[in-house]
Amino acid sequence: MNFSLYNSELFSFLFSSPTSFHAVANIESHLILRGFMRLRENERWQLAKGQSYYLTRDNGAIIAFILGSDETCEQGFRLLAAHTDSPCLQIKPHAEIKTGSFLQLGVEVYGGSLLTPWFDRDLSLAGRVCCRMSDGSLQALLVNFRRPLLTIPNVAIHFDREANKNGEINRQKHLPPILSQAIDQQLPDFNTLLFEQIHKEHLEVAVEEILSFDMFCYDFQEPAYLGARNEFISSARLDNLLSCHAGMTALGKAERKKNVLFFCANHEENGSTSASGAQGSFLDSVLQRIITDPVSLSIALNNSFLVSIDNAHATHPNHTEKSDSAHEIHLNKGPVIKRNANQRYATNSLSAAIYKDVCREAEVVPQEFVMRSDLPCGSTIGPITSARLGVRTVDIGAASLAMHSIREHTGALDPYLLYRTIEQFLKSEAHRQLLS
Ligand SMILES: [Zn+2]
Repeated sequence: MNFSLYNSELFSFLFSSPTSFHAVANIESHLILRGFMRLRENERWQLAKGQSYYLTRDNGAIIAFILGSDETCEQGFRLLAAHTDSPCLQIKPHAEIKTGSFLQLGVEVYGGSLLTPWFDRDLSLAGRVCCRMSDGSLQALLVNFRRPLLTIPNVAIHFDREANKNGEINRQKHLPPILSQAIDQQLPDFNTLLFEQIHKEHLEVAVEEILSFDMFCYDFQEPAYLGARNEFISSARLDNLLSCHAGMTALGKAERKKNVLFFCANHEENGSTSASGAQGSFLDSVLQRIITDPVSLSIALNNSFLVSIDNAHATHPNHTEKSDSAHEIHLNKGPVIKRNANQRYATNSLSAAIYKDVCREAEVVPQEFVMRSDLPCGSTIGPITSARLGVRTVDIGAASLAMHSIREHTGALDPYLLYRTIEQFLKSEAHRQLLS
């Protein structure tokens, strides 16, 4: 596989995964095609060595694993973790707002969104709708309108001459996107639009009533190369679907010889506290069911190693003062190892050394990031997972600009360079060193 083929698969994954639910469904389809078998949490499992499995929780998180034919469980797992969610705008339950001739939708801000870029974009809608079916049963259905549907118009500069100076955004008042307008006819209602979309996407089902939904706005612009030599990639949700895609691709290609587990958590962008988030019980519960003896599990975790993958900040050319000058991060220069003295990242010298050894095996040179000492540092699911499981962990990710914007940027080479180190990690023995 070369980087342009890799990127074309990444582009289609990014665009077809507007929500964490769609990301999980796409990862699931990818793994089913590669022989992974579905498990359910409410059933007993019969696991066999040399086989691969997956299970999902709440549609937004997925765990997939291989029980290697050449390893015992006590030899531990090569663990990968990433998150499926991205900052965005979520539709409120009673969504409709009528203002003059316009129909708007009430929204809440999901996660730490950079809000300015959401204005004047062609937005679509996607998510999960819970319905009562004609036979009386309840079903959750994924929907994706796949067309520009909404916009949040900026106020003209003539009404706010200070807009470029202040530009404060009131989340309640300024964000509701416009969905429709009617002068002489009736406005459409949101429920009917959802009904029509469900009928388009799920021909086989008969919906009686929509009971509730988790619907999100997303930018309809497709991922693209940009730059004089196509040296950049621009897309929504690079944080963190770029990392989910790297883990998914590496796992799909991995031989069934070594123990591997891949965890994609939901709700990282709002603190990870949910049943499908990294603070939840999903990963612990699955590991306890794979290795039922507590002593064996403890030995296995001590022999395991977690690569927590989430995007890193590249040095911004217009804001170089925001970066530590001894730790400049460049696009197209390889994956980034993230360090923080206060454990906002789980990396330490031992785990950095092991990942560097994996990079050497993959013939990729990593970069090293620390935040400026006078700025607060972001975090990932790395420290949470490392603390819960007691597993050695490195926090890494692809360099990017404009993190949490509606459109983020990375180097054209970065996703593939990251992937190569993940692919190598899944067959490496590097983590058997430096055990304490
Ligand atoms: Zn992230």
